Amino acid sequence: MEGSCSRSKYSSPPDQDFLPKPYSCHKCGRLYKHNSSLKRHLDVECGKPHRYICSICEKGFKQKTNFQRHNSTVHGRCWKWGWKREDGL
Ligand SMILES: [Zn+2]
Ligand SMILES: [Zn+2]
Repeated sequence: MEGSCSRSKYSSPPDQDFLPKPYSCHKCGRLYKHNSSLKRHLDVECGKPHRYICSICEKGFKQKTNFQRHNSTVHGRCWKWGWKREDGL
């Protein structure tokens, strides 16, 4: 019987983004690859008010680290003592 979070047997697994996401939140419909991720979502995210709102795309985040990572990866901004645009604008 497979465990709920069995690791890949392959030494170099394919890009995880192409794997299916079988776990969906029954409240908001978000999809997750792992049951543990869905549980974390339900625990700390779903139904809770957003504490951090992206000023560019208005996406909300409950966790500061996710908010910072979003800004860094999506918008190219980095958090130091305030927002600093890496593109110079
Ligand atoms: Zn949800
Ligand atoms: Zn954003």
